[in-house]
Amino acid sequence: MAIISSKQDPNQPNKQRSDTVKRDRPLSQPLLKPEVTAEEKEPQEDSIRPHRFADYIGQKELKEVLNIAIKAALGRNETLDHLLLYGPPGLGKTTMSLILAAEMGVDCKITSAPALERPRDIVGLLNSLKPGDVLFIDEIHRLSRMTEEILYPAMEDFRLDITIGKGSSAKTRSLPLPKYTLVGATTRVGALSSPLRDRFGLIQRLRFYAHDELTLIVLRTAQLLQTSITNDGAEEIARRSRGTPRIANRLLKRVRDYAQVKNAGIIDQSIASVALELFQVDPCGLDWTDRQMLSVMIEQFNGGPVGLETMAAATGEDTQTIEEVYEPYLMQIGYLNRTPRGRVASAAAYKHLGFTPPNQQLSLL
Ligand code: ADP
Repeated sequence: MAIISSKQDPNQPNKQRSDTVKRDRPLSQPLLKPEVTAEEKEPQEDSIRPHRFADYIGQKELKEVLNIAIKAALGRNETLDHLLLYGPPGLGKTTMSLILAAEMGVDCKITSAPALERPRDIVGLLNSLKPGDVLFIDEIHRLSRMTEEILYPAMEDFRLDITIGKGSSAKTRSLPLPKYTLVGATTRVGALSSPLRDRFGLIQRLRFYAHDELTLIVLRTAQLLQTSITNDGAEEIARRSRGTPRIANRLLKRVRDYAQVKNAGIIDQSIASVALELFQVDPCGLDWTDRQMLSVMIEQFNGGPVGLETMAAATGEDTQTIEEVYEPYLMQIGYLNRTPRGRVASAAAYKHLGFTPPNQQLSLL
């Protein structure tokens, strides 16, 4: 880990931080990382995924927009416009794409940009589409330039331009494609090239889920897993799930194991909170990395501004993960602000970690 220079005045009141700050090393299980784990790639995971609009909890605006688009497309007997979904991982982009296909009565093919490295990968996929099908490309900001160029006419004119041969004897052939809907998903909408972004008729953002929505998701999943859970047990899990359904479902499974061994399988509020403490998930859903980021900002930089590289060095995470995974949630709960000069910890973050916020320090001196 890089050494971070300290700017803090040793006489600052914050040196007397309370011992509520947890500096335990992170657990090896990625409990609070929103990316898919191996367990979540198993086919049984499909049983907890919502399959119709009615089961998809939250994202009211998104559902309204898509519901209208689907009804209009079905009414005109047309395919749905190409759709770009963006937002942090685990919020339901893949799930929404599968639901769209189900509501339109078509198939959905799922792939991701890193699997489409060679031009023939995307050509093969496009050729296998049937009229109306949905093609879901995850991490679409990572498409190679060649694949992206094949996609332009394929999205706009439903045409596949293939070059045969090399050099001066090369010829381009155009093949018609059936009308289909491309659903692109990305965590970094700003990283998409503008020609690609402009080819999407609909661009929609997914938001972190509210506490009551996540509670409903936990209750729904518990029912599907045939697990007994009280309302306050579901609320406790929801509170610690970082606004993310994937994390809520994952925490529920871990708490279920704990409840089975300690409480005859029943999840109530106290079992949920004891189990999640054991797994180092704090009451706001912060893990070691979040706490480390905020503590470094507060203890060594008087709350900031602090550069992204410094945050990465302090936590051992790469800058992209900090930007795409950790910061959005810390900003959402009001613990961190991004300013042109760097990241700044808020008074709420000071309080959560047991420090005295800067505006209250003067009265202590
Ligand atoms: P993303 O593609 O954004 O990374 P997914 O669509 O794979 O996220 O969703 C992760 C998991 O969270 C899914 O398996 C699903 O069970 C659950 N999930 C996502 N969105 C919802 C929702 N709105 N209601 C209920 N469960 C959801």
